[in-house]
Amino acid sequence: MDVRDFRASGNLPGQSRSIRITNVTGGVDRGVHDSAQQDPSWRVIFSMVAAKARLGEHVKWTRIEVGTDTKTQLVDITAIVSDETAKTGVKNGTCFVYMPHTTAGLTINENADPEVARDILTGLARLVPVNGDYRHAEGNSDAHIKASLVGSSLMVPIIDGRLALGTWQALYFCEFDGPRHRHLLIGTAGE
Ligand code: ZN
Repeated sequence: MDVRDFRASGNLPGQSRSIRITNVTGGVDRGVHDSAQQDPSWRVIFSMVAAKARLGEHVKWTRIEVGTDTKTQLVDITAIVSDETAKTGVKNGTCFVYMPHTTAGLTINENADPEVARDILTGLARLVPVNGDYRHAEGNSDAHIKASLVGSSLMVPIIDGRLALGTWQALYFCEFDGPRHRHLLIGTAGE
């Protein structure tokens, strides 16, 4: 994302106050209108936004297809994410995984004992029943709620060319409304 485009959009996502930023370069805000100009907390937010935008310019993204064959399923994607990260040649940096779906998610947990993945699905099913006081017309509210519970992105450090995962950790793609054809994005930043 181009830093200037991000700023030109005017409204900061997730903020109730609508503030237009103009003529901003190098992370130093010089044209913030009205009260924000005097408010140090807004300057911090603007700096963070600028830093994220600059980081975004250096992330290389790869799109991966994932097919699922049951309604709920945890798919171990550690190997494919590790391989795609290795291909970039990044030795020290950050790996990002992003899932652009609303009824599937991502999580990190144990893969030494496959029963852990089974227990996570069983536990989520107990927490969020398929049938409940839901109004979503598509009838898959439980999948939407589970997707929000696990989240839709992961961040893993890359150290010495490898994903710096703990001994028992694996990256899981979480299907909550399959079987479906899904895709996810793997990004790497660093050198
Ligand atoms: Zn739905």
